[in-house]
Formats: sequence, C-alpha cells, structure tokens
Amino acid sequence: MLLDFDKNQTIEYVKQLGEPAFRGGQLFDALLQAKNLEEISNLSASFKNKIAKDYPCFCILRKLKSVDGTTKYIFRFSDGEIVEGVFMQYKYGNTLCVSTQVGCRMGCAFCASGMNGLKRNLSAGEILQQVLCVNRDQGGNVKNRKVTNIVLMGMGEPLDNYENVTKFLKLVSSNEGINISQRNITLSTCGLVPKIYQLADDGFCVNLTISLHSTSDEKRRKIMPIAKAYSIEQIIKACKYYFEKTGRRFAFEYALVAGENDSLKDADELASLLKGLPCLVNLIPLNYVKEKNLLGSDEKRVKLFLDRLLSCKINATKRRTMGADISGACGQLRRQVMAEES
Ligand code: SAH
Repeated sequence: MLLDFDKNQTIEYVKQLGEPAFRGGQLFDALLQAKNLEEISNLSASFKNKIAKDYPCFCILRKLKSVDGTTKYIFRFSDGEIVEGVFMQYKYGNTLCVSTQVGCRMGCAFCASGMNGLKRNLSAGEILQQVLCVNRDQGGNVKNRKVTNIVLMGMGEPLDNYENVTKFLKLVSSNEGINISQRNITLSTCGLVPKIYQLADDGFCVNLTISLHSTSDEKRRKIMPIAKAYSIEQIIKACKYYFEKTGRRFAFEYALVAGENDSLKDADELASLLKGLPCLVNLIPLNYVKEKNLLGSDEKRVKLFLDRLLSCKINATKRRTMGADISGACGQLRRQVMAEES
C-alpha cells in the first residue's frame, strides 16, 4: 500500500513504473491530502490505472458525533477489516486517538477491544491513513493541520505491533509528511517491558503512558494477563530508562473500578509506588462495557482518590471522559462485525 512509503520510496515506486520522478512527488502530495484517486487532477488516467491496486481508499465508513463534540470515526480497510478512531477537541489543539491493531490479544478484563482476540496488525500506512483521513474530514491540510496531537490509545496494543507502529511514527513525524512532532504523540502500553527499552534505544521520543490500574502485581495479574510476564517494578525501571534516554516524562493510567482499586489505601499504595518519579497519574473512572461486570467509581470517590494523591505530592489529574455516549471512550472501542457494516 502506498501509504507505507516515505517520499523517496514513492518516487522509486513511480520510476519503476516507467514514470518520471516528479510524478512521485505529485502522488505523495495527493496521499498527504487524503485525496481519493478520482480526485487527483494532475495525474493521467493511464497512470492512475497503473497505481490503482496500491492506492488506499480514504473512505470513512461511518461517523458518530457525541454530545460533547467528540467524533468517532469508523474506517474500513481493503480486506474489509474495520477499526475505530476518536477525534477530540481541546483548548490547546485537537487529538486523534488511533487504532494500531484489529482487535487485541492482551485480554485485559475491563476492556472491550480485546474481547474477540487479535484479528491482525495494522500496517504503518493503515495507521497513517486514519490520521490523514480525519485531518481532511475536519477541514485541515498539511500546512494547516486539524489533527495536532495523536494518541495511540485506540484498539490494540501498540508495542505488540512494534515494527509497523514505529514505522508509522517515522512517517507521521517526518517533515516531508504531515509532520506531527513526536512530542505531540503519546503511546500507551499495558507494559511490554522489552519493547519500552527498544523504543528508547531506537531513538523515539514520544510520550509514554503505562496502563497500570493496580498497585500490586498480585492484583494486577487478576485483571491484566500481561502482568504475569512483567512486574510493576520492571515496568518502572523501563520507564526510568526511557526518561533518561529521551528526557520525556511518563504517565500512568489508572482506571478506577468501584470497590476494586479505589480505596484511600489504594491511593496511598499508588503514591508510595510512584513517589519521586518524574511522572503523572491520569485517573479515569472505568467506562462502561456492556459485557463486563465492573462499574466505574463515582465522582465523589474519584475526587477523594485524586486529592489523596495530590496531598502525597503525586502529580495527578482526572481525565475527562469524552465520547462515552457513542462508545468512543477509553476501553470501549471494539472490533465491529464486518457484515453488520456492509
Ligand atoms: N493497549 C494499550 C493501548 C490502549 S489505550 C494500553 O493498554 O495502554 C486504552 C486505555 O484505556 C488503556 O489505558 C486501557 O487500559 C484503558 N481502558 C481499557 N478499558 C477501559 C475501560 N473500560 N474504562 C476505562 N479505561 C479503559
């Protein structure tokens, strides 16, 4: 697929088709603008025929708008697989949450994305396609971007698709491409420790967020299978390494589940675990997932928990839940049945 190529590779591609190099530049520009093949006016019909099989379809299968302004996008790829992305508007800019896999194999107890396992990885181009499609749909272009920030927090575990995700990071942050700085990109992981080291060693400098959700390995193992492979201590060590290498502070996600991990004792344990680390805690009351028998903590409890962390000098915030009415909030994205959509 053409979106997997950087500018030079696109030029090489057209040369191999017997076309002059500048056609590669024109093609690359059209892709960046998320133009569909029939919309490109400066390429001949015969050239378009030659490239049609490799050209992506920038189509949005469906768009759902939340009362809070958040928009959920549903994309379908050439093999019919479907993923979701969520566009959120903030004062400082607009954030797009992208998916990195169709489904997920991490099997976290509270999350809808992994309920039917992993179907397949997305390619770098398929992740980029989500960004370019939404940027265009929101009225943006390369110079005047409407997607200013990206979070890899949609469906899938980004570090379980390391090659494609890191290729995507290079493409999306390239100054020949849409040029979204890695400082404006956040990668969230359930904690694949060796890949955190690799990300730092490979020279990336995205913001790193860890889905923690528990204060002890024993409790974490009950809700996150990945905790059987890596301990919280190993995760924290890897985060410190990431910080030393990149200078980027890291964050922890902590979804508050009523009666499970939201007591003041839990807050104290969390505070002592993270004391002195250059990190931020993001609290989210668990979002509702129909098949799961878990409830999010109420507002009052979230506030108590937050205040306790703050009084222990832990840098913490409550994340605003966005898009819950369109099942676009954290943990609510899931693989759609293809037949339902066609
Ligand atoms: N696999 C990666 C990326 C997904 S990001 C990761 O685990 O970090 C999605 C975030 O939403 C993760 O922090 C995840 O743990 C969290 N999440 C999953 N289900 C949730 C739910 N029902 N309510 C709130 N957050 C949830």
